[in-house]
Amino acid sequence: MPEIHDQPEPYPHNFDDNTEDISGTAADVDVEADMLCPADYRDSADRSEGYINAREHMPVTSRSVRGVFVNPDGSSEHEPIPDDLLEEIYTAHTTQADAIYAQFAQDREGLDLTRASGFVKDMGITATDRIVVIPTAKQRDLEQALAPIEGQLGMAQAKRGLYASRSDTALIYRDRELERINGTGLTEALTVHELAHSGGLVELRAMTTGDGDVLIGNDRLGYKIPQYDGMELTNTVGDFIEEGVAEYVAGQFVAHELGEPNGFAGLRGAHHLHRSSLGPAAIPLEYTSRGPKGGIIIASAALGARALGHFIDRDPALLPALIAGARDDEAFTEVRGRMNAIIPGSFEHLQDNYNSDARYEEGLLYVCNRLGIPLHRLH
Ligand SMILES: [Zn+2]
Repeated sequence: MPEIHDQPEPYPHNFDDNTEDISGTAADVDVEADMLCPADYRDSADRSEGYINAREHMPVTSRSVRGVFVNPDGSSEHEPIPDDLLEEIYTAHTTQADAIYAQFAQDREGLDLTRASGFVKDMGITATDRIVVIPTAKQRDLEQALAPIEGQLGMAQAKRGLYASRSDTALIYRDRELERINGTGLTEALTVHELAHSGGLVELRAMTTGDGDVLIGNDRLGYKIPQYDGMELTNTVGDFIEEGVAEYVAGQFVAHELGEPNGFAGLRGAHHLHRSSLGPAAIPLEYTSRGPKGGIIIASAALGARALGHFIDRDPALLPALIAGARDDEAFTEVRGRMNAIIPGSFEHLQDNYNSDARYEEGLLYVCNRLGIPLHRLH
């Protein structure tokens, strides 16, 4: 069937919209940094910042956690962190975090979070029940208060939500202005995105220091896998896939649960043309919303979601595998096989590259090129 409206709005107009929004505040644009982003540590003067002193804070863990011990010289002892220690850490940590969350007035009025949570669980995702919704203006205060537990959450960066892995909590920064324009479904869809992250395996590394302290850092969050040289975090991989899955699930929620296949922006046609550094990129409408100035905005993760969508279109069984693979080794291997059957080597390529928002466009272009799909079209 031919696409009916290839360009839902006059092409240059879309560009203007995006340009306008991009010049706005950071919160207006395609900014969405969530989960405990290892990139935040990368520029830190203290390379050990990614670690939390377990003796002081007893951090981490959630329903699916495992860990390895790492020696100060970087060599690993693949002894599992004992379950009772993990449990102790988790309990202590969520208790501390809850005391902090209690200091912030939540704003859940008018939001159907049960619907968001139910949808995620129906997708087969083992989502957390811990959801905190506060006004967007309180983001910095909350993240500062959480820093001893969650580490630096990228406080300089405005964002709409994140999954705080160490207290196993979806943090939603509610933007009433964006809701006024797009409806409360926008915040619910954001909640779906963050809850999707929460279903991934949280793997820890415990490092014993010379003076006997046990420091705990992240080894894996779903598809995101930090890379270390000894204690130093050098890189993280899998970001494009992790974010793509979360946003794909959010898109499914918008299209099928909210019954808004054209998204929040009210566009008609098949897709939105997103202004990208590599040329116009078609974005399925379920990922679109409107910014304060009326421009079309998308989360950068939508670029990953579109890319994964091309794989899922060709192999629908990949979707449940992707969901299961975020926490299960066997399913992780299955994902690799299914994606590589469509584009040889694509899983490793996508995992190793495009590991920051700024590179998602290139990741999408790679998939399009390999599948022979123009970037500016969906087919
Ligand atoms: Zn995300």
